[in-house]
Amino acid sequence: MASQAGWRRCLGVGWLISVAAGVPIPGQELPGNGAMTRVRTCDARAAVLLRQGREGSPTFAAMLQRLEGSDLIVYVETRPLTLPGQMQLVAASPTCRYLRVSVHTPGLDTEQTAWLAHELRHAVEIADATDVRDQASLRRLYERIGAVGRYRAHSAETLGAQEIWTTVLHELQRTPAGAARRQ
Ligand SMILES: [Zn+2]
Repeated sequence: MASQAGWRRCLGVGWLISVAAGVPIPGQELPGNGAMTRVRTCDARAAVLLRQGREGSPTFAAMLQRLEGSDLIVYVETRPLTLPGQMQLVAASPTCRYLRVSVHTPGLDTEQTAWLAHELRHAVEIADATDVRDQASLRRLYERIGAVGRYRAHSAETLGAQEIWTTVLHELQRTPAGAARRQ
């Protein structure tokens, strides 16, 4: 099954703490992003995936709602990656923690949206762990709730994120647009 291969390819959460290229400096806002929410898109493709997820998957929408109640700001971008998706803790201030989620592009709508859901699940894991503020505490979290370094050094994976990928993909495929694409 594609998902099984996909799980092995997903190397999940990186330890790097840095202000990465393409991510607004904390405190700056993106122009033209409409009403600011805690999950913010950096490019047009990311905005499409976010909208598809929110509208086509109750599980995806519930994760967005959870993140809205968190102290996180999550920037979502699409770009060519060697992985289907990844997430990084970019910075932490006393009142806010900043994450960057990247989804590999190009790709199929539903699969890219499912990978975005997978990475947003990692964001929820961090939202629930308010003590995670740097790479050491991030690593401790994933040693506790996931598998660290199983697939690649300086990365981690969780069963919860793997399951979200499958759940959201199935929910998206049940929508009228998803059903049409399968025919
Ligand atoms: Zn992952």
